Amino acid sequence: MVKPFVPQLVYVEPKALDYPLGKKLITKFEDMGIEIRETTSHNQVRNLPGDNHFQKYRVAKSTLVLGLRKTLKFDTSKPSAEYAIPFATGCMGHCHYCYLQTTMGSKPYIRSYVNVDEIFDAAEQYMSERAPEITRFEASCTSDIVGVDHLTHTLKHVIEYFGKSEHGRLRFVTKFAHVDHLLDAEHNGRTRFRFSINDDYIIKYFEPGTSRLNERIEAAVKVAEAGYPLGFIVAPIYLHEGWKQGYHEMFEKLEAALSEKTKKDLTFEMIQHRFTKPAKRVIQENYPMTKLELDESKRKWKWGRYGIGKYIYKDNEQEDIKDTLGGYINRYFPNSKIEYFT
Ligand code: SF4
Repeated sequence: MVKPFVPQLVYVEPKALDYPLGKKLITKFEDMGIEIRETTSHNQVRNLPGDNHFQKYRVAKSTLVLGLRKTLKFDTSKPSAEYAIPFATGCMGHCHYCYLQTTMGSKPYIRSYVNVDEIFDAAEQYMSERAPEITRFEASCTSDIVGVDHLTHTLKHVIEYFGKSEHGRLRFVTKFAHVDHLLDAEHNGRTRFRFSINDDYIIKYFEPGTSRLNERIEAAVKVAEAGYPLGFIVAPIYLHEGWKQGYHEMFEKLEAALSEKTKKDLTFEMIQHRFTKPAKRVIQENYPMTKLELDESKRKWKWGRYGIGKYIYKDNEQEDIKDTLGGYINRYFPNSKIEYFT
């Protein structure tokens, strides 16, 4: 059982203390006996303890920085939503394949933003541009926000904000099961709470530091009982020996745990494993013993965002994934919706 995250070290940007949330959190971390350091900007977070990159990387992953979100221009977030809404960046998990390893570069610490009202104001503008159409915001593009939320309760506040929103909807995804504080949030059905799931082999070998499959399923049951629309992202779909059996067992467990009512409004998203050359270098540096297969010659090259090519599965393997996993979903959850495979 993965325990709820507690940072080893907290940095605070002085301006964060001008916000009630910043003050509240610093008092909380002081009371918890956590070392707190001031920093003029998160970019100044240097001198993390550790003798080498390997150690510093691990300390960074358990360091929390409280600061302000300065860029209030939101990225798009296709295919799952219109925009990415940024309340946190970074993650305490250690998934070997995680895309944050390349996007966060040398700054893998977790940041939580305290200027939440300013982020809401920006969201309002995006919504008004599209109204009366609904605008969906994805809150987990740059972090696993649930993983830190038992400390900050920012996400709870955001869920309640969108609970009152006419034109906005919220969605996020997590690999963490620490959801109890979110169960009584007034979501009004406007937040889709998704869990990232995978078969036992993949969770065991590639997702250290995250909640196990059974814990995620238990949390999903609680979330569904609390009335949230529920979804699952099967990601990354990774082909290993016995993958068909592994995924079959995963879907069987899920089917056995969820109520008939929950199964009626369920979404699935399917994302195959992919990597880029820069990601491969970073993964091999941060997780030198990984069993993750990163052999370009076994993959198909595809033009990617920012001009960096990515390596995905070959066409026949993609068809096999779609048929096999799509088949399990249709068999066990005939009333669910597969939103996309990518
Ligand atoms: Fe990355 Fe998600 Fe794993 Fe965190 S839980 S390390 S965000 S893949």
